[in-house]
Amino acid sequence: MKVIFPNSADVAASERFILKGGRWRRVMLKVRYGVIVHPDHGPVLIDTGYTAETISAPDRGRVLRLYSRVLGPTLNPDQQPEPVLARLGFTPADVRFVIVTHFHADHISGLRQFPNARFIANGPAFAHLRSSTDWHNIRHGVFPELVPDDFDGRMIDTESLPRTEPEYGLPAGRDLLGDGRVVAVGLPGHARGLFGVMLQTASGPLLYAVDVQWIRRAATEARVQAWPARLITDDYEDWRRSTDALAAYLAQGRAALLCHDPENTPFDYDMANSDP
Ligand SMILES: [Zn+2]
Repeated sequence: MKVIFPNSADVAASERFILKGGRWRRVMLKVRYGVIVHPDHGPVLIDTGYTAETISAPDRGRVLRLYSRVLGPTLNPDQQPEPVLARLGFTPADVRFVIVTHFHADHISGLRQFPNARFIANGPAFAHLRSSTDWHNIRHGVFPELVPDDFDGRMIDTESLPRTEPEYGLPAGRDLLGDGRVVAVGLPGHARGLFGVMLQTASGPLLYAVDVQWIRRAATEARVQAWPARLITDDYEDWRRSTDALAAYLAQGRAALLCHDPENTPFDYDMANSDP
């Protein structure tokens, strides 16, 4: 099963915010999303990264414009979903499933680009979004205008899918595509209902740990920076547990990838080296 991670955009951040003992220097965070080429289901996305819907669309709401201006992401046009899918021989209309790990703008920005996709998402997290005020959502980095109007009817609730046995010291998961090769593993805290995705790739198991940390060194060098997380996490205690689970998993020497880690990895989609 081929799995690649394009980088939809770059965002500058101070190292001090994301790494304990980090310096004031700026690091460029990536904003990855995943593309699985599944033997039975064709192209399946894991989130969408940042897209024009957040950064440049003329019909954006005022608060989304402000959010975009403050964070200042720079889109990578070549690594947006449409050109990446084209290089793999697909169009957005061919995408039947988008796995939505959580509802932050940098993960759901492009959902409207996939008219034929079902959305595999955590049902309780979506119900919470729908029942919350716009202000509550925006305060938690969730912009309801990015969620397609018919999301409810197109959603597959992860909690309705078959349970899997716990593996690699991680919590039990949910089998997302019916073959055990794409499993949601609950790692909540950063956002309500957030799950990572355990993937059986051609080169072995890979945990896509999404936003449990921003930077891999924080987990591998025990340099988790707690105070910014206290400000922005949905549930701090859950986030600590998920952070510990990721550190324990990495300590086994197993492969993991984070959405925003600035280092290049073998799983990154590289325009020069891709072989669609
Ligand atoms: Zn997030």
